[in-house]
Amino acid sequence: MTIELFGNLNNPQVLVIGVFHGDEPQGEYFINSYLKKSTRNGKNALYFIPRLNFNNSRKNKNGVDLNRNFPTKNWILGEQNDYFGGNAPNSEIETQTLVDLIDKNKFDGIVTIHAPYKVVNFDGPAENLAKKASEIIGYPTSNDIGYPTPGSFGTYCGVERKIPTLTIEINEEEDLEDLNQKFFVFFEYLKQSF
Ligand SMILES: [Zn+2]
Repeated sequence: MTIELFGNLNNPQVLVIGVFHGDEPQGEYFINSYLKKSTRNGKNALYFIPRLNFNNSRKNKNGVDLNRNFPTKNWILGEQNDYFGGNAPNSEIETQTLVDLIDKNKFDGIVTIHAPYKVVNFDGPAENLAKKASEIIGYPTSNDIGYPTPGSFGTYCGVERKIPTLTIEINEEEDLEDLNQKFFVFFEYLKQSF
């Protein structure tokens, strides 16, 4: 149950995170497929965390929605529901791991993979990157998911730190291998463009 990291931190450009919510496992599959197939270039421009949340439900083992636990200006102590952001901001080891990684490294972009809203959501200066992802994966772009997300990773990285950040919400009804192929193309694009 350790958070595994793949890539060369001497030259990281884009951070890709698979499973933020434990009941949205597809991202881990796409990343592991990519790592098996892709030939490494010298730059190692991509840095992968296949699985952040090892619980099999949305929240982590402490019952915290990791995507509401980031130490943003809008973090709130909410009700203990599916979106509970923890008893304090940055209270969870998974959140602390990412905060530390992003503090110590200058990423040019960040991508997280979620389900099921069929949208390429973006935070910060990520409109062009979102358009490219939209072309490859086939979902519309949006910079407003339509509901408040206090303490979200996108707010932490994109809005507050100005790192181009994509939250790609896949369609769970789409064929997994078709999606896997699209993510392969998108990861190759990232590798060649940063
Ligand atoms: Zn999610």
